[in-house]
Amino acid sequence: MKHDWITPPCKEDCYGCMWCAGGLEMCKVCGAFEGATPDECPGKQMSYDFSDLVYKGIINFRDGNWYGECAEAMRHIHDVDNFMEEAGYFQNEHGKWEKFPVMGDK
Ligand SMILES: [Zn+2]
Ligand SMILES: [Zn+2]
Repeated sequence: MKHDWITPPCKEDCYGCMWCAGGLEMCKVCGAFEGATPDECPGKQMSYDFSDLVYKGIINFRDGNWYGECAEAMRHIHDVDNFMEEAGYFQNEHGKWEKFPVMGDK
């Protein structure tokens, strides 16, 4: 199933927590938030341990099961080489990521 994203309501006297200031959303079903989001919603509240493992790129939920893999949302942190290559970047001789020139670009 898909995550059910909400912006959590905040305290009235909040002066800029990460939810309000960053416009962060969380899933009201599993409690996932940006940074610790499995590909699909496990359908119930994740324990702290689970969301921590998702955050570390160790487990992912999809097709109704948990897998020992990095979630799509975390690949830009834990699997950066493959992620960037798929996004059309290559690493230059200085170790910086550069966008492949697109054919037909002027
Ligand atoms: Zn707030
Ligand atoms: Zn969810």
